[in-house]
Amino acid sequence: MKFIVDGMLGKLTRWLRMLGQDVQYSTQLDDAELVAMAEKEQRILLTRDTELYKRASAKGIDAFYVAGKTEAEKLAELAERFDFSLKIDLNHSRCPRCNAKILLTHKEKIAGKVKKNTFSFYSEFWGCPNCGHVYWQGAHWKGIRATLEEAKKIRGS
Ligand SMILES: [Zn+2]
Repeated sequence: MKFIVDGMLGKLTRWLRMLGQDVQYSTQLDDAELVAMAEKEQRILLTRDTELYKRASAKGIDAFYVAGKTEAEKLAELAERFDFSLKIDLNHSRCPRCNAKILLTHKEKIAGKVKKNTFSFYSEFWGCPNCGHVYWQGAHWKGIRATLEEAKKIRGS
């Protein structure tokens, strides 16, 4: 299962990638290009644009209209429709920035790439082999968990 999203869904893209989903996203593509790429790469098109939704559906492309207002609502409806888990396991996550699979990395390798406090406080870090960004389950993780819990409640599981 692979997705392509319209340019308005950048935040949702980052969530889906963290959840391990393969998501193509670009603000540079126009509607025709989005539809063409969905067709070529066999991706499900996620959009908040009714015109684009209709256009893709008419071409026989698997498209889904994202109705939710909050990220939790959007994640809940997508998890329900496409049947994926609302649990983030960074060992299966993709880079929120570039969609490459991130990898658990040796701590020594990221020395100097994160702040000293972060480096000494946390033991597990994941790196993106494509863009080089480093991830860890820091203080911001509380907010991430809260959003996922909210999404699970909406989904009813
Ligand atoms: Zn990356």
